[in-house]
Amino acid sequence: MLIDSHCHLDLAVFDGQRDELMVRCAEQGVSGFLVPATRFESWGKINHLVKRYPTWRVAYGLHPYFLREATLKQIDGLAEQCDTERVMAVGEIGLDCWPGAVDMDIQKAYLLRQLSVAKMLRLPVILHARKSYDLVLKCLRQGGFDRGGIVHAFNGSLEQAKRFTALGFVLGIGGTVTYPRAKKAHRVLASLDARDYVLETDSPDMPISGFQGQTNTPLSLPCIVQHIANIREEDVDQVTRQAYENLLSVFPKWNEDLL
Ligand SMILES: [Zn+2]
Repeated sequence: MLIDSHCHLDLAVFDGQRDELMVRCAEQGVSGFLVPATRFESWGKINHLVKRYPTWRVAYGLHPYFLREATLKQIDGLAEQCDTERVMAVGEIGLDCWPGAVDMDIQKAYLLRQLSVAKMLRLPVILHARKSYDLVLKCLRQGGFDRGGIVHAFNGSLEQAKRFTALGFVLGIGGTVTYPRAKKAHRVLASLDARDYVLETDSPDMPISGFQGQTNTPLSLPCIVQHIANIREEDVDQVTRQAYENLLSVFPKWNEDLL
């Protein structure tokens, strides 16, 4: 029961290959996918695709990296958009402190507005936080947000990890841990409580070690699990089972639509 808790399978790079990719994933035991939206323009396409693929679950939101093309008014439609099929969370939302990123005050305004929608809908959130864990934590507190969710592609300290898990979040662990040089990520992963992580690939981004420059897909999930098992000195089945349980703790409705 391998679930990819963060993959952008709606993106154009997968057009024309999705059916085949879904078949290959099923063969490899990768049997569930959470596809979070990034731009407002992607909401319609995701809503269309989730009807086609019963193994998909989705989240809607405005990603901080793409806010230049967004308007706050688009958030007015978020609650209604989330009242559609198999929506697990609001996301992907957050703060991106990267050179060239949108002004931080603007990013915060979008984050706080979307947190309040999630709070109203009683949904968890998918957080994107690049070089901004402490700032995001501040916004969660400021917004009185206590629904938890996933901190996608977590690469912070153990201390920061604990601050998020105390607020009901789990940490998305992905391809970074497959790189031998990622010593800090290995150390943090080895020290995490077993209940604190879920699996993700961030496809088509974040290729695993040895596949740099290629389009990443959820097929790299078994390799990520193998690395997590090695680093945590657990067996693969144990990691797989634990990650699945952790996912269900954040998204209790994950299996609701399965017959
Ligand atoms: Zn993402």
